[in-house]
Amino acid sequence: MIGAVLLIGFAAALFSPAVESEVARQAVIREEEGHGYLVSHERGYAALRQISGQAVGGLVLTPHAAAGDLWLPDGSRTPLSETVIPAGNLIRLRPTPAPTAVSAPVWDRQARLLGDRGQETLARLRVAIVGLGGVGSIVVEELARLGVGELVLIDNETVDATNLPRLLGAERSDIDKPKTDLAARNATRANPQIRLTTVPRRVENPEALRELVICDWIFLAADSHSARHWVNAVVHEFLIPATQVGVKIPVSPDGGVGQIHTATRLFTPGVGCMRCNGLIDPTELAIEIHPEAEREQARYVPGVPAPSVMPLNTLAVGEAVTHFLLASAGLHESDDDLGSIIHRPRTRERHLQDPRQNARCRWCTSTGNLGRGASGELAARKAAPTHP
Ligand SMILES: [Zn+2]
Repeated sequence: MIGAVLLIGFAAALFSPAVESEVARQAVIREEEGHGYLVSHERGYAALRQISGQAVGGLVLTPHAAAGDLWLPDGSRTPLSETVIPAGNLIRLRPTPAPTAVSAPVWDRQARLLGDRGQETLARLRVAIVGLGGVGSIVVEELARLGVGELVLIDNETVDATNLPRLLGAERSDIDKPKTDLAARNATRANPQIRLTTVPRRVENPEALRELVICDWIFLAADSHSARHWVNAVVHEFLIPATQVGVKIPVSPDGGVGQIHTATRLFTPGVGCMRCNGLIDPTELAIEIHPEAEREQARYVPGVPAPSVMPLNTLAVGEAVTHFLLASAGLHESDDDLGSIIHRPRTRERHLQDPRQNARCRWCTSTGNLGRGASGELAARKAAPTHP
């Protein structure tokens, strides 16, 4: 994605001169996997590029357009094609109006909602799904049928007989085969033109991380603290919005069914992260980041498999993909709405939760790893050998 800029901030903030400088201060240029700095005067480009060793650029913002250019570390200069602001909507600003798009007849009913440009935007997106189980398999199906251009499918597990009731499109012959194979087959059936990258690895594997950091959106459908840790790092270091989709069916103190809830949590770069919101348990994480063999050696006993049923997974996925769809097409009524949604089906309640942020968070603030890209803490891990 050379020539695209990702800005942290909200559309409302962009047009207030007082806040604009703060937005510009936090702005980060995304160039492939690298990041850079924005400077206010062109004569600063060369010096700052030399000091930082990163891409340096300038940007002119107006309410409906943005223009600028980048000086890359190799000395070449390239104009910016698009500025993306990940807020409640994925705001896209260009130097000139986007060319008129005409979507294929097969998308007619969707384009009536999204517009031809909205449909064309979906076709340009690269979206990752981390975890291809009961939740992730439905996310894949919906994204493929919506016309998302490219999916990155990440899961290191194989299909188990007990998965069959919840894995979309699964057959008995899929048992013991990688979940990535099943997801790829479903996606291609849904849209033969779709581009796929399958990574049958854990998300922290360097191969998986390399694919993840060049996506436009991430769906986290794996219920482990280590998956949350790595996706959280990617969201804030590489400025990629993510949605966590999950279902919990807890056991109550008397051994009965507890308060079932589904959660669709939005994680926007620079806004309260999974750490700030208490969603990553350091003890669980410490156990999970060890290779399986070491966990067995330490006689770590994994918990009893949690209950899981398809309709609850569908409820959570419907909410998550609807949010993504409306954000991609700029159809949310408010750019400031970054809340998560919790459903409690037993009491038929639905709550909105706004994200909390620790002002000194190491991951999601500009004094920490926010927007640091390849120079952030995750980068070193990318190159290190890891277990599959
Ligand atoms: Zn944080």
